[in-house]
Amino acid sequence: YDDRDGVIWMDGELTDWRDAKVHILSHAMHYASSVFEGERAYNGKIFKSREHSERLIASALALDMPMEWSVDDIEAAKAEALKASGLEDAYVRAVVWRGSGEDMGVASARNPVHMAVAVWPWGAYYGDAKMQGAKLDIAEWKRPSPETIPVHAKAAGLYMICTISKHKAEAKGCSDALFMDYRGYVAEATGANVFFVKDGEVHTPKPDCFLNGITRQTVIQMLKDRQIPVHERHILPEEMSGFEQCWLTGTAAEVTPVGEIGPYKFEVGALTRDIAEAYEQLVRA
Ligand code: PMP
Repeated sequence: YDDRDGVIWMDGELTDWRDAKVHILSHAMHYASSVFEGERAYNGKIFKSREHSERLIASALALDMPMEWSVDDIEAAKAEALKASGLEDAYVRAVVWRGSGEDMGVASARNPVHMAVAVWPWGAYYGDAKMQGAKLDIAEWKRPSPETIPVHAKAAGLYMICTISKHKAEAKGCSDALFMDYRGYVAEATGANVFFVKDGEVHTPKPDCFLNGITRQTVIQMLKDRQIPVHERHILPEEMSGFEQCWLTGTAAEVTPVGEIGPYKFEVGALTRDIAEAYEQLVRA
């Protein structure tokens, strides 16, 4: 991704894409002091942009990184980067990290905090067969307890087990992996939240130890608008044998139907199709 034309917004300036670099002794590189956002623009407008900017600030503060940029500053930075990209439909990646400076140890309060925004095209997250039902592996790693790490921050450190679990899943021919949490309840995929359907009602894990995704919240509202009961609760993995439909939600994943999770099978049913289509319409409305 580093060798392409274009510009990246870095600390207030549009920098040539190939020159948008950081020093190897950046604190983020050694101690995971990095938080980010994944957003999508549709027809030139970022969906739920302010919510993403607010979450970026909250994530940075959770990692004790003071933010010199306000929500409005972040909005302006993203708008500038999107405009410079010339793209109407695009993925927007904002990242805030602790750079190199006075300190090289774990404590780094004197090192500067940086922000960058890059924009590029990104199609369907799980490939072109999006509506056919993705196949998911069950991850060996567990989503950690909220007492061990700031679980609601979209922080780079929380993605380490996502990368290794997704690599393992892909090696088995799956598109992604589903995590259980530290108690054994169903949690989320490596970059998306999960929903299940049974008897016309929707069940989704309670986000008490993972990201309460912006797409998740949007989809719950869509279901409530349709008077479909939504149960946010602890879900045991064995319950998956009784669920009829399943889908994932996320900015990149949008609403992606799931056909299989380990031994459990689901149909791409009417409600899944309806919500996926309605989400597509909503983001472009
Ligand atoms: N969980 C994880 C681990 C994620 O990376 C994402 C994507 N940001 C989500 C859930 C879904 O969040 P959102 O709907 O806000 O994109």
